[in-house]
Amino acid sequence: DPGQPPADQDLLDRRDRAFAGVQEHYYDEPPRIERGWRHHLVDTQGRGYLDMLNNVTVLGHGHPALSDAVHRQWRRLNTNSRFHYGSVVELSERLTALLPAELDTVFLVNSGSEAVDLALRLAWAATGRQDTVAVEEAYHGWTYAGDAVSTSVADNPNALSSRPGWVHTVAAPNSYRGRHRGAEAARYGPEAAARITELAAQGRPPAAFLCEPFYGNAGGIPLPDGYLREVYEATRAVGGLCIADEVQVGYGRLGTHFWGFEQQGVIPDVVTVAKAMGNGHPLGAVITRREIADAYRSQGYFFSSAGGSPVSSVVGLTVLDVLRDERLQDNALAVGDHLRGRLEELAARHPLIGAVHGSGLYLGVEFVRDRESKEPATEETAAICDRLRELGVIVQPTSDRQCVLKIKPPLCLTRRSADVFAAALDDVLTHGW
Ligand code: PMP
Repeated sequence: DPGQPPADQDLLDRRDRAFAGVQEHYYDEPPRIERGWRHHLVDTQGRGYLDMLNNVTVLGHGHPALSDAVHRQWRRLNTNSRFHYGSVVELSERLTALLPAELDTVFLVNSGSEAVDLALRLAWAATGRQDTVAVEEAYHGWTYAGDAVSTSVADNPNALSSRPGWVHTVAAPNSYRGRHRGAEAARYGPEAAARITELAAQGRPPAAFLCEPFYGNAGGIPLPDGYLREVYEATRAVGGLCIADEVQVGYGRLGTHFWGFEQQGVIPDVVTVAKAMGNGHPLGAVITRREIADAYRSQGYFFSSAGGSPVSSVVGLTVLDVLRDERLQDNALAVGDHLRGRLEELAARHPLIGAVHGSGLYLGVEFVRDRESKEPATEETAAICDRLRELGVIVQPTSDRQCVLKIKPPLCLTRRSADVFAAALDDVLTHGW
């Protein structure tokens, strides 16, 4: 019947045939999602789900202000940024106004991968060298350069063995289960700094040090106090640039700060932004100092057909307006603190929870089989996610061990929905999965 949607299995089979299989889908039996509203998703059966996963959609799904702004701008004009129009200037000014004064120059692109790629190429152009230091167990994108510095084995089992020669890594600064734990985590900074100094002594001074300023892939673990100060100092001492990848953790999600690097009291040379910046519309940015941006001239001119287009710029401006007007960073802090408290209550009763990580509405619940050995409860985490889906909650695992529930919902999450999530998790941990 042409009036009926095809059966779900039929659509999945067609997806398998037409859509590259390496682009996986969530769940073996995925609900077929038809619409979204705030922090809720609704499937074709009319079933609602609490969305604890969509960190890109910071404003929430189906936001009318964004939808209206896009609609109006599409009717009026969409062209490229070689034309002279207001919104591209306004968005660039709004971004620089959110950052320390020296970060005064903006490139507009279409994704986090592009932003990271451009950030690296800016560092290479500005320093005249290519060696780059990245942190282990991180993800930075799929382009050639972004993939090269992505070291997470969850995304690519060969991530560490297949790096090009210009990529050097330092240990994942994970204070929960890394090489140094608890107070000992203070050693990660000096160790990474020593690695950078050593590379310079070997005649390979790095062009850049790149990392997420809040450790996203591990489930939202703050970097040890002083980590970025120590590593940035060592990088600058050998003439390198410091890149903060804020694609995932920036834009207010952490609640306490708009940018992750602010938690560390440092100022990067280059900042990459995407995801939240477009609320799902393809939007990314690199913000840097004027002289670093100018160094790109040695590579030719810079142009991105849709980067900074009138529609993209209006999306970027509207997202910033709504974030401000609806006080979503404050909401991330208040609801995030509340949810964290609820999760810590669960940790006191359920030994499977090894730790609750995170800040604001970037939280991680790490599951371990044994709190002493910290053996990752990987299979349990996958099964818990499946069971939560049956109970109407969308959430997925993260980390190289896939044993952390990554909790990064739209920033409009309410306390009530946070309670619904905590109750569902309590139910699964109490009655099994
Ligand atoms: N950097 C970080 C920290 C990310 O989390 C991601 C996406 N997961 C990227 C870069 C790449 O962004 P995109 O998917 O928009 O290309």
